[in-house]
Amino acid sequence: MAKVEQVKTNKFGFVEEALAQRRRDHLLRAAVPFAPEDAVRGWRGDRPLVNFSSNDYLGLSKHPRVIAAAQEMTMRYGTSASASRLITGTLPIHQELEERLAAACGQEAALLFNSGFQANATILPALLDASSVVLCDRLVHNSMVQGMLASGARLMRYQHNDLEHLERLLDKAAGQGYSRMLIASETVFSMDGDRSDVSALVQLTQTYNAILYLDDAHALGVLGKNGVGLAAHQPGVDLVIGTFGKAFGAFGAFVACSRAVRDYLVNCCPGFIYTTALPPGVIGAISAALELVPSLDAERQRLHFQAEQLRQHIRQLGYDTRGSSSQIVPLVVGDEAQALHLSHWLETQGLLASAIRPPTVPRGTARLRFALSSQHTGEQLQALMQAIEEWHGRAS
Ligand SMILES: *Cc1c(COP(=O)(O)O)cnc(C)c1O
Repeated sequence: MAKVEQVKTNKFGFVEEALAQRRRDHLLRAAVPFAPEDAVRGWRGDRPLVNFSSNDYLGLSKHPRVIAAAQEMTMRYGTSASASRLITGTLPIHQELEERLAAACGQEAALLFNSGFQANATILPALLDASSVVLCDRLVHNSMVQGMLASGARLMRYQHNDLEHLERLLDKAAGQGYSRMLIASETVFSMDGDRSDVSALVQLTQTYNAILYLDDAHALGVLGKNGVGLAAHQPGVDLVIGTFGKAFGAFGAFVACSRAVRDYLVNCCPGFIYTTALPPGVIGAISAALELVPSLDAERQRLHFQAEQLRQHIRQLGYDTRGSSSQIVPLVVGDEAQALHLSHWLETQGLLASAIRPPTVPRGTARLRFALSSQHTGEQLQALMQAIEEWHGRAS
């Protein structure tokens, strides 16, 4: 017994070690509460802040009709779907919403998922196996990386938006006897705010008979005709992933695809099968947002106009905004501690913008990531630009 006693070490030593390492590297993160007051303002403790880090690009999470629809469906069906989709969790409103989503995307069918992370992390392994090859943009969202790694497929990452590099990799992979080839990308990249070339990706997938998988999370509601995103109504895009926690102001996700692929996922995707269906209130909110989004052209125009103003201001001060051409505007500082410093400075000025550090972005590209909303006023944007300029003046 005494011997057993002696070899007992702290079994959570690895936890303390990992935390200490992150603290040393200025990479330790924590979830700090923020209490929203409206679509763009809120409170952190007793400090009022204008939020420039939310993905509520159109303010729909606070829209009276979206809220009313969530309440109405909760009153009618209760707070939970109370079962998974294949048991009794498919309510009529799930089915109706999927039909409307398919039509909106110009695809045969659509299937709801409980989150974008869950969709990417579980659809990709359902489509790939250990003898497949998957080629993905180096900057794709972590949920896609998780899915690709879990699949056991050979993973090839191409340089960001470098389709020549992708083509070289496709050339190398073709004729190697892989069971199938899949290309995965985002339409708008979440950390750089730039876009991929969807029609060029379609051409490449057709040339190599690959499957094209596009995550439209940051374009849905914000870009494309009627805000339908950048991957909708594009023949040749095999699977489109959309999420509802961003411009739709709700929660959850969907895939739009052929009827056969939908039927396959219903039968072969554990992330669809073994989980409780989205609750009625969430379905109500998504449905109302889907109805509202086409009517919000003026809001989208305002959003893109303000994003362009912010980009120009940041560039004039000499900072890189990467290839941003969307409502996501990065200000690349480079150094992690500097990025934190700018974020803290903005907070003292009543402005909330989180520092994004490795491993979320590549080392040496720590940044502030501004996410604009159509609900930001001109004065709020001016205040942000002025505060950045003052910080720059002090730093240089
Ligand atoms: C936010 C995001 C996700 C995750 O979606 P959730 O519904 O928040 O889990 C997936 N892909 C991309 C590109 C995203 O930006």
